[in-house]
Amino acid sequence: MHPLAYTHFKKMVLDALNDNIVLYSVSAYRSFKDQASIYQNYVKKDGEEKANKYSAKPGTSEHQTGLAVDINTCFTKDHFEKTKEAKWLSNNAYKYGFILRYPKDKEKITGYIYEPWHYRYVGIKAATFIYQSEITFEEYYDIMIENKEV
Ligand SMILES: [Zn+2]
Repeated sequence: MHPLAYTHFKKMVLDALNDNIVLYSVSAYRSFKDQASIYQNYVKKDGEEKANKYSAKPGTSEHQTGLAVDINTCFTKDHFEKTKEAKWLSNNAYKYGFILRYPKDKEKITGYIYEPWHYRYVGIKAATFIYQSEITFEEYYDIMIENKEV
């Protein structure tokens, strides 16, 4: 992980433990090669069109930035969204600079299905704004471009 993201992730994991919430990374930084292999496997399994809804083409994955982390799972079949860990994350992650990157019912904006486990480090100021405004990173980016500041 990027050192800044790692420092904040570690603090979040330790604070969560105090609330009896166990968080861990199942996937954080990925190289181009790692992403290419993951993506190709999904394309083989589901076809390119479907795979594009939940897996990024190599070179376009947030995991390659070292700022994204999949927490506790990376599968929809695990129903992570129903766990107390997912609830804790959705209420607290912004305090550590992380945002839920692909929220529910925002598929048209983000281009990805709801991924309750995928968090991205954007810094505490941006994360707090995004959380309080209930917007996606894409919408935040648009606001930033228009206003030059938030
Ligand atoms: Zn992810």
